[in-house]
Amino acid sequence: MSADEDIRKNIKELKREKDVVIVAHNYQTGLIQDIGDYVGDSFGLAQKVNEMDVSNVVFCGVDFMAESAAILNPDKNVIHPEPESRCPMAAMVDMDELKSYKEKNPDTAIVSYVNTNVETKARSDICCTSSNAVKVVRSVDEEKVLFLPDKNLGRYIKRFIDDKEVEVWEGYCGTHDDITAADVKGLKDEHPDAEVVVHPECRPEVIDIADYAESTAGILNRAKESDVDEMIIGTEKEMGYRLRKEVKDKEFYFPGDPTCQNMKKITPEKVLRSLETLEPVVEIEDEVAERALKPLEKMVDLGRG
Ligand code: SF4
Repeated sequence: MSADEDIRKNIKELKREKDVVIVAHNYQTGLIQDIGDYVGDSFGLAQKVNEMDVSNVVFCGVDFMAESAAILNPDKNVIHPEPESRCPMAAMVDMDELKSYKEKNPDTAIVSYVNTNVETKARSDICCTSSNAVKVVRSVDEEKVLFLPDKNLGRYIKRFIDDKEVEVWEGYCGTHDDITAADVKGLKDEHPDAEVVVHPECRPEVIDIADYAESTAGILNRAKESDVDEMIIGTEKEMGYRLRKEVKDKEFYFPGDPTCQNMKKITPEKVLRSLETLEPVVEIEDEVAERALKPLEKMVDLGRG
């Protein structure tokens, strides 16, 4: 038996023995996706954890995802196998800067992408994911919105909002921001009939030459529905694993080598250790968790876009 098969077997046995469900983000490695009971985007996983009747959830994703699951589910033990698996974009919001912005702009709605840390969420009016960001911005009563932290997603939202002023924070996801229009065009030259679907965290000029901008769940749906034979996908490359597993009648091409190293810090060995010890559990200070809960609940209540 190979080392991978050995780990898979041990994980399967431990899951049976203990009251544990494993959820994995679409950007996790193929092996982690395979051992996950549910694989999805941040919105889908948040919804799934809410619905589950289970005591322990091993969350294979970056820090803000596990934190959000813990805040939304105080009755469950949310276990993050590698606390150092952190999203650098979430860390691009400086708390002092945000505090001072709020003081100067008391009538502005703070809409934060779910890719933020818990302190940012606690200072926000509502959260959103890439699949419901436009719907969320439309839902707020205020005429002015500060969207944070992703400038690319913020600029994308602005394309659809004409009755509000949307100010955008200067954060970005390096993985998506590194995807260039030249790389996409190069692939399009090689595969002229391919449909181009990119994540809205990509730069505006990449979105401009795409046929669709979608969350990872949207990309998967598009791949299942579209009748083309080839697709060019602008998002983290591990999404290709899920696409190729679930959509067998198409070829998928990725521009460049878009990799989120932070997601890859979760390894099967660390998942196995978490199953053995049921640790490390995500711990959030009650007062901050309470303040972050409302904007997260509003996001979930609004549903996908
Ligand atoms: S892909 Fe980008 S937004 Fe997602 S966790 Fe990695 S750095 Fe953060």
